[in-house]
Amino acid sequence: MRKPIIAGNWKMNKLAGDGARFVLNVREQLPEADKVEAVVCAPHIHLPLLTEAARDFQLGIGAQNMHFEDSGAFTGEVSPEMLKDILVDYVVIGHSERREMFGETDDSVNEKVKAAFKHEITPIVCVGETLEQRENNETFPFVEQQVKAGLAGLTEEQAKQVVIAYEPIWAIGTGKTATSEEANDVCAHIRQVLRDTFSGDVADAVRIQYGGSVKPANIDELLSQSDIDGALVGGASLEEESFVKLVEAGA
Ligand code: PGA
Repeated sequence: MRKPIIAGNWKMNKLAGDGARFVLNVREQLPEADKVEAVVCAPHIHLPLLTEAARDFQLGIGAQNMHFEDSGAFTGEVSPEMLKDILVDYVVIGHSERREMFGETDDSVNEKVKAAFKHEITPIVCVGETLEQRENNETFPFVEQQVKAGLAGLTEEQAKQVVIAYEPIWAIGTGKTATSEEANDVCAHIRQVLRDTFSGDVADAVRIQYGGSVKPANIDELLSQSDIDGALVGGASLEEESFVKLVEAGA
């Protein structure tokens, strides 16, 4: 059985103190870690405070991006080694906002995924189609190619630990959720791609999250689907009460 993973993606929101207070307030309300994995992905500058606030609690702290080199002349960037040094355990890679606005490509996603494993950070790899691609029936081939390119070169052991977030771009921050069947169809296809590319063991092990306007009102329905193992949540992860409810739904 795959353990559900519910990750909040705060994006560029909250000040560091508010973030730390959030962690201090929710950390004791979360269900046990053997039932569900809970993660908060925050701006880099908040991460030292958050990992400190979450220490010894069942809450993972993640970054929203990183560079793939360990160090060097990359002004403005943060390396995986720096994240690991402050006890960050997860990193979101290839979010559609980074692909659209910051030039992230399948190649850079792949470099970052490999770099995450080098430093024992769990990558949450985002894939998903635009509305136009969905309307042109290109969802399956597009997402398939994102998964294959993003995970290229990983060993089976590494591939098993990847978390994939399927986030249809048209459902992010729009209030439009894919129906749970639509979301599950794509997640099942991703699992098939993992089976064909790696093995049945990898396909069975990888957690696939759905993301895009997930909230307490629709999470149960989404998680009841055969191939959806969690959620990557933007807007609804910003409020303590709703974040706790989302994690409870996964338990
Ligand atoms: P949303 O964002 O839940 O606000 O739609 C999801 C995401 O971008 O990860």
